[in-house]
Amino acid sequence: MSQINDWIACRIKLDQRDKYLREGKDFINDGEMLDTLKRNVHPDAQAVRDIIQKSLAIETLTPDETAMLLNVADPELVSEMEAAALAVKKKVYDNRIVTFAPLYMSTKCVNNCLYCGFRRDNEAATRGVLSMEEIRKECEILAGKIGHKRLIAVCGEHPESDAEYIAQALQNIYSVKMKTRHGYGQIRRVNVNAAPLPIEDLKMLHDIGIGTYQVFQETYHHETYRKVHPVGTLKSDYPWRLYCMHRALEAGVDDVGIGALFGLYDWKFEVMGLLYHAMELERVFGIGPHTISFPRIEPAENTPFTSSTKYKIGDDDFRKAVVVLRLSVPYTGMILTARENSRIRRELIPLGITQTDASSKIGLGAYSDDRPEQQGKRQQFILGDTRSLDEVIGELARMGYITSFCTAGYRCGRTGKCIMDLLRSGKEGNFCKLNAVITFREWLDDFASESTKALGEEVIAREISEVREKMPQIFDSFMKYYQRTIGGERDLYF
Ligand code: SAM
Ligand code: SF4
Repeated sequence: MSQINDWIACRIKLDQRDKYLREGKDFINDGEMLDTLKRNVHPDAQAVRDIIQKSLAIETLTPDETAMLLNVADPELVSEMEAAALAVKKKVYDNRIVTFAPLYMSTKCVNNCLYCGFRRDNEAATRGVLSMEEIRKECEILAGKIGHKRLIAVCGEHPESDAEYIAQALQNIYSVKMKTRHGYGQIRRVNVNAAPLPIEDLKMLHDIGIGTYQVFQETYHHETYRKVHPVGTLKSDYPWRLYCMHRALEAGVDDVGIGALFGLYDWKFEVMGLLYHAMELERVFGIGPHTISFPRIEPAENTPFTSSTKYKIGDDDFRKAVVVLRLSVPYTGMILTARENSRIRRELIPLGITQTDASSKIGLGAYSDDRPEQQGKRQQFILGDTRSLDEVIGELARMGYITSFCTAGYRCGRTGKCIMDLLRSGKEGNFCKLNAVITFREWLDDFASESTKALGEEVIAREISEVREKMPQIFDSFMKYYQRTIGGERDLYF
């Protein structure tokens, strides 16, 4: 125990935290945010329409503008906002959607977050940390049988799953290569959702090839933050967490993912918090968040807080939160997870979602063992959508989406400011479209069921004729890559 306490005692580097504060304060001013929401409680219809135009020009909105959108109640204006969200998504990301799988690596945690099944005091939780061999086994299934190319590696905060462990895990995951029907499967991008780390640890992960580094603030409301993260725990330090994306960007990790756990405090306030966070990163580094996540609180084993919180957000408000986020930070990737059920996912994806997980299992070692699907004791929470990747991709294809397995971005320097500029200008779409088709071809040939393949072929045919029409100068070299992929070559990208 004393070893764990010694580890905890040296985690937070005060100098790395305090240097960002201004007069001892962080950039989230709760009073100002609440005032902004109040001041814009009755938005004028014309003002709302002007704001929509600004989003359509892919410009980040101001707090007043976001507050106005959050307060729109007129159903006609709400549908105009939804149509604009769809148009922004199309303009920046076209009809592409990226899929990934979560890989839970450790359920040990020194924190005691009231809402989480992994919290230290939860005696009902089964604890463990995957060994490198166990991580390998999980990846053999994910990359060799299901066909994932991207993972989000998740762990609690604990000395047994520290940055060295994560670094070793990343190297291990990238080294797994599995033979498939026509080629081979490999995980090509590992994003990480872990504790806020100091700069030195982030540099190490950057050198190994981390994808996006995600840390959710959970709630931006200071008082609520204090209530749900008990005093004395590492996580109770609000600014250490708030500024971890600053540290990541300083360490060279360009793709950072922010998020809030909806259900801890008022949802409108959290949307404002996410906007302020994006604005602050843009102001200091010229780079906004690569992704925004907005998980809703889900039931967890022996975790009464999840049902007693009075801030649960209903489906209609959640829909509005997604639309307003899409319009407020138009260039950012938006992640909707399998916490949500299939109906909600079907409804919300067209409103601006760019990434989603599928075939997800969140029990430790659950991809490679035969134990029942959902086991409360070894999971952080209960999933709402347990459909297979094949089913989800089939449905997305029916809805007109192409699933992109492209992971070229961080491997050829299209990260951070470079990708933001490309996204804003609409040019990123060119690379992405080509890479989406090539990687979707790989997946269809290697993993798809007959019925999903048939749906996918229709999507691919449409995409190829769009490339011919819109990018004639590159069409021939694109088709060469495409044919080489059909021939069994893998991981070709522009
Ligand atoms: N331990 C790290 C941390 O807290 O940042 C990272 C992993 S934690 C397992 C990932 C995220 O799960 C948390 O940031 C939180 O937003 C979310 N989460 C925790 N409890 C949840 C619940 N009951 N329902 C839905 N999401 C939850
Ligand atoms: Fe630990 Fe993260 Fe769960 Fe908090 S949310 S108890 S830090 S795993």
